Amino acid sequence: MRVPRFHVDTPLSPDVRIELPPQTAAHALRVLRLQPGDAVILFNGDGHDYAARLVAGGSREVAVHVETRVATMRESPLRITLAQALARGEKMDWIVQKAVELGVAAVIPLVTERSEVKLDDKRVTKRLEHWRAVAIAACEQSGRAIVPLIEAPQALDRWLATLERSEGLVRLALHPGEGLRARALQPAPRTVTLAIGPEGGFGERDLAVLRTAGFANLSLGPRILRTETAGVAVVAALQALYGDI
Ligand code: SAH
Repeated sequence: MRVPRFHVDTPLSPDVRIELPPQTAAHALRVLRLQPGDAVILFNGDGHDYAARLVAGGSREVAVHVETRVATMRESPLRITLAQALARGEKMDWIVQKAVELGVAAVIPLVTERSEVKLDDKRVTKRLEHWRAVAIAACEQSGRAIVPLIEAPQALDRWLATLERSEGLVRLALHPGEGLRARALQPAPRTVTLAIGPEGGFGERDLAVLRTAGFANLSLGPRILRTETAGVAVVAALQALYGDI
């Protein structure tokens, strides 16, 4: 059986003993039925895995003893930021999960001209917490020891105003029709910022502000993909061409 991998929010180092957070402990005991002595891997986002073992705990608490720090090599040399126009409910969860599995460095949910999803402040906080939990679960599963940044949803023009000139040397707006092709990017990019439109696509104003901010149009070919397909497809293509797939 694969050694279970858990995210914890505490500093880790060899030879410390920590309690697993209550939800993780419940999962370890009731679902995985782990016993004292069983091996687990912990990570906290610092880029390492920590090999650990369960030590005897109570009926609800699970204590683990950290044994060694292990370097992980799962981050892509291609740094991808995925700015994704908000998609409805579960689609956004799916996009966050797949983007993390495919190795993106950051996800930024965008509100664009034709965005149909509206979030008030209270819902934003809840959704953001939820997406961060989805990202952590995807890291647990995929073996990543660095948790990608999931930012709060932002209006397209406000997000563009925060981008620094030096950041995201290659900026691509995904738009059906004429445009660059992924395989033709030259020189091979090391850092890419991608903008994906909503179900209804980017509007004229969106495209104009993207252009002003230095985004070139990228085409994924002759078929129109759904917004949740487009992000995943372009990340996979770029990782295959310039990253580590
Ligand atoms: N209704 C729109 C399509 C929206 S598809 C139209 O007919 O134009 C949703 C988003 O997915 C788009 O905004 C774009 O970012 C991306 N996308 C879908 N298919 C694409 C393609 N072939 N090339 C580039 N981007 C694409």
